[in-house]
Amino acid sequence: MKKLRLILGDQLNLQHSWFQDCDENIIYVLAEMRQETDYVKHHIQKVVAFFQSMRNFYTTIIERGHQAIYFHINDSENPQDLEKLILFCIEKYSVEKFEYQLPDEYRLDEQLRRICSQLKMNSEAFDSEHFYTTRNELSDFYEGKKLLLMENFYRNMRKKHHILMDGSTPVGNQWNFDASNRKKYKGEVPIPAAKNFHANVSTLVVQINEAGIKTFGNIDENNFSWPTSREQSLAVLDYFCSHLLKHFGDYEDAMHTNEKFLFHSRLSFAMNSKMLSPKEVINTVVSFYHANETYISISQVEGFVRQILGWREYIRGIYWKEMPNYSQMNVLNNTNKLPDFFWTGKTKMNCMSHAINQSLDEAYAHHIQRLMVIGNFALLTQIHPDEVDSWYLGVYIDAIEWVEMPNTRGMSQYADGGIIATKPYVSSGSYINKMSNNCAKCHYNVKEKFGDKACPFNTLYWNFLDEKKEYFKGNQRMAMMLNLLNKINPEEMYKIKIKANEIIENMDSY
Ligand code: FAD
Ligand code: SF4
Repeated sequence: MKKLRLILGDQLNLQHSWFQDCDENIIYVLAEMRQETDYVKHHIQKVVAFFQSMRNFYTTIIERGHQAIYFHINDSENPQDLEKLILFCIEKYSVEKFEYQLPDEYRLDEQLRRICSQLKMNSEAFDSEHFYTTRNELSDFYEGKKLLLMENFYRNMRKKHHILMDGSTPVGNQWNFDASNRKKYKGEVPIPAAKNFHANVSTLVVQINEAGIKTFGNIDENNFSWPTSREQSLAVLDYFCSHLLKHFGDYEDAMHTNEKFLFHSRLSFAMNSKMLSPKEVINTVVSFYHANETYISISQVEGFVRQILGWREYIRGIYWKEMPNYSQMNVLNNTNKLPDFFWTGKTKMNCMSHAINQSLDEAYAHHIQRLMVIGNFALLTQIHPDEVDSWYLGVYIDAIEWVEMPNTRGMSQYADGGIIATKPYVSSGSYINKMSNNCAKCHYNVKEKFGDKACPFNTLYWNFLDEKKEYFKGNQRMAMMLNLLNKINPEEMYKIKIKANEIIENMDSY
């Protein structure tokens, strides 16, 4: 029976059982489609990374003897749309059965189900064989529970998969070393240069531009740094183990104006495109740790394992538990628009300037920049979560809706009413000052709450708490912040509010 097997751009899993044997009756299809480039405006590096990785994947499966077809973005026969693509291939290759791997995005899941229900032939969906958990495992785990605390899920995952465990005891006698993962970086240890493949992607950039795809952000076409094949992805993992792991946990939350990547792994694109599996990443890192315990401490490794075994699987589970309603949530009724400087990087706030310009230059910012600088500012200025979501979904190399949306709309913007975060991740400038060197060279003064030179984060923070105090009044975790708010005298509060409104109305001049 002639079968057509679809491979989406984020399903580049060479280890999948589909590729264990060659079968001349199976034909694989990959396509660069306008449907996927146009649902949001993407960073140029993100489009390049996906197309280049898809092209490399296609070459590898052909070399291994599989039958496959590939549609480049400018091919005249490219249908540019998933349904048309499937129908076109079925007819052209006299296909008798259609098969696909379960997509990670709700949008594509719905579309593929609908297409299959209308096909006049059998179709079958296969697991993508990537995650530790199934789509519904998190829902089952929390069944009947009100609070979906990540920590409980994470401990269960450690036990279930026997990762960093001594029998039933966690290695190091502690589940969580979060408290030792909060060092400020002051240049005390050198940071190795980020792994860069120096690839020349200029031809691909020309093709993307000729196709008329609208992108944003910057790219060095002769020096493309992201991994776009399994070999390169494995090289990034290897580099992380041998150069970065030993300080990963310590500086996980740090920010520094001269250091874009610090000790972060830059593995998210390789994993989200499935060139690497989370299991092999964790197994490699844990084995490396055991072989080098003399100089790598458990707190570095546990911090890393928690991000992937804990947060990454948890976020995916929340996505499938809560979609499609999640994408509409806006419990704080925020309605403002993103300022233009999110697209230009032109702002006098040093922390925002660094985080946004880095995002535009590298299609990357690390977790704390995304959460406590950019996301913090967006929440304090009460931007509509749809606007924030679109920006995050477009700008980051690793942004795919299943992982972007719960992180952005949920963890960062609290638009889900606390499904993920028990309190909003908002802070004044003092947190940014504590974790970075941004404030020392800023136009604004991190100690001031109002006045011309006051740090906008300070003004906006107290204003946000004041505006949302009714919503948060029953939240125990907000009690201390609201108590402090009550202690601000009315005259001072009046000045804060006038200033905050002025900032919100004129964000682009700050
Ligand atoms: P490292 O710091 O080296 O961490 C290792 C790995 O842990 C990452 O590669 C990633 O796979 C995983 N991880 C860490 N934190 C998370 C998390 N919160 N959720 C899921 N996985 C996590 N991650 C994405 O992959 N795609 C996104 O679109 C995305 N959007 C985000 C939006 C916001 C507002 C926030 C706060 C976080 C977002 N994250 C997202 C999570 C995290 O910021 C990135 O995974 C990380 O910065 C990627 O860089 P890295 O590979 O160097 O990570
Ligand atoms: Fe950011 Fe305020 Fe510090 Fe400036 S002073 S870098 S705006 S936190």
